[in-house]
Amino acid sequence: MADSSSSQSGGYDVEQFVNTPEYDLICTICHGVLRCPVRAACHHIFCKRCILQWLKRQETCPCCRKAVNQNRIFVMFKLSKSIGHMKIKCRNEILGCPETFPLAEQYRHSLRCAHELVPCPHQGCRAQLLRRDLEAHGGHCEHWRQPCPMGCGTVLSHRTQAQHNCYLQLRQEYALRQQNHRAIAAALQRKMQRMQSTMAHMKRQIGLICESLEVMDDLQEEEEGDQGDQGEASTSTSGL
Ligand SMILES: [Zn+2]
Ligand SMILES: [Zn+2]
Ligand SMILES: [Zn+2]
Ligand SMILES: [Zn+2]
Ligand SMILES: [Zn+2]
Repeated sequence: MADSSSSQSGGYDVEQFVNTPEYDLICTICHGVLRCPVRAACHHIFCKRCILQWLKRQETCPCCRKAVNQNRIFVMFKLSKSIGHMKIKCRNEILGCPETFPLAEQYRHSLRCAHELVPCPHQGCRAQLLRRDLEAHGGHCEHWRQPCPMGCGTVLSHRTQAQHNCYLQLRQEYALRQQNHRAIAAALQRKMQRMQSTMAHMKRQIGLICESLEVMDDLQEEEEGDQGDQGEASTSTSGL
């Protein structure tokens, strides 16, 4: 218990770093890498929290025993920044994350680390999973809820989703079918109109043919009448 609280308030775990940190970056109080380093008047450097906690018990430097004034310790911003550039391994390395990154980017990485343990986002679900398994879990989570995508207002779970007989969907399908039927009817009507106009055209043509046949009949009759008169003349010509 004492161990976990000291690691929380103290420096960074040395094991976390890709390369073993230099000796002068280690806090002599917590033995971790300096977190928010401060320098006392005696020039010894500690994590800010470590030395403030130490000074509650005794007001001397843990290294050299010189008196330390709590109001005369200074934050070392440059050192803090260069420690922030040091490469660390992901804290989820044991869960399978192979990534390394500068210490300062630890938080940003944790927001997208596929091996970070995160709670299921569905209300009422107490499952904790690796971020990469979240989607698969969502596929069968008992607490998964989603409003019907058709917009009918029904909230669906995985169990009710398959049985949901959405009236909006039925209505849409019906409207679609009706639209289809209307389109077919319109196409048929256009076809009929085309056939009607073809028929009218044919009727006119037949009329014309009939007319010309009548004219030919008349001509033939006339011709036959003429032939009776000119019978002799035509036989004499063919005889030549
Ligand atoms: Zn410390
Ligand atoms: Zn000192
Ligand atoms: Zn990670
Ligand atoms: Zn869940
Ligand atoms: Zn619905």
